Amino acid sequence: MSQAEALYRLQTIDLSLLQKQQRLKTIDAALNNSQLVADAQSCVNAAQQTLTPLRSKTRSLELELQTNLTKTQTTEEQLYSGRVRNPKEMQDMQHEIASLKKWHGELEDKLLTLMLDVEAAEGALADAEAQLQDAQRTHESEHSQLLKEQAALQAEVKALQAQRTEAASAVTPENLKIYTAMRPKKSNQPIAILKDRSCSVCGVEETMAIEQQVRQGHTLTYCTSCERILVYVS
Ligand SMILES: [Zn+2]
Repeated sequence: MSQAEALYRLQTIDLSLLQKQQRLKTIDAALNNSQLVADAQSCVNAAQQTLTPLRSKTRSLELELQTNLTKTQTTEEQLYSGRVRNPKEMQDMQHEIASLKKWHGELEDKLLTLMLDVEAAEGALADAEAQLQDAQRTHESEHSQLLKEQAALQAEVKALQAQRTEAASAVTPENLKIYTAMRPKKSNQPIAILKDRSCSVCGVEETMAIEQQVRQGHTLTYCTSCERILVYVS
């Protein structure tokens, strides 16, 4: 195997490693992102914040109605007990009963409106809770799929790293240095294939002398345009 071929093999492994490592990074980010669940939880919180004051308002209105009713009954009992004989006092009591009853009607109307509001708020809360459950289920199933993919990728990366060590051992330390230095400058692709006398990366046509040199593989030969190391793959 020529040095160019050994380097090409190394590059193939490195590109595959890079791709898998990038996917692992994406998976990592996705595993840490639970924005959908957080958004659904905020909706549930908002719905609860709407419902809670409506419920306490309902309770205090019910209590007020009960107090009103008791007061009406007590006044009526007093009025018809025969103990009150003063006409002015009796008239006052009748007025009070009338106003208590009028107030009772108003309270009942208020309560009815409020109960409709409570019903609507309870419906909104139930919807938000269902959506939260949905989001949690989706999140969990995505999680378990991602975890599976992550484990598979980690095993593949480990195998590739072993392959890389072996492939790198076929390259001289000097050429490995050249390859490593070129990687960041050549988009991780410092080796190009010579095919039909053209560079596979930049497409430039090489001279016959270069083609011959690449075919022989005794030294590293560079593309005249993009300056990548050329390899002849039969
Ligand atoms: Zn080129």
